[in-house]
Amino acid sequence: MIQQQNSQQLPLWRGVDRWVRRFQVPSLTDPERGYVVAIDAEGKWGCSCPAWTHDPTRKACKHIRAWKKH
Ligand SMILES: [Zn+2]
Repeated sequence: MIQQQNSQQLPLWRGVDRWVRRFQVPSLTDPERGYVVAIDAEGKWGCSCPAWTHDPTRKACKHIRAWKKH
């Protein structure tokens, strides 16, 4: 079930529902993994990867940058 896999990848996002759009992106380093890039109602971007979730400045990570170029 894709839905269950997504929620397992996003422990830090549990209970967070401000994301209005989500995009599955492959990991650049491990093809077996993937991350979820999301955009909220204010147009702010987020990502489920450690680089973004552990960065208090919420600077765009490589996944967000790569997706925007998409
Ligand atoms: Zn990322």
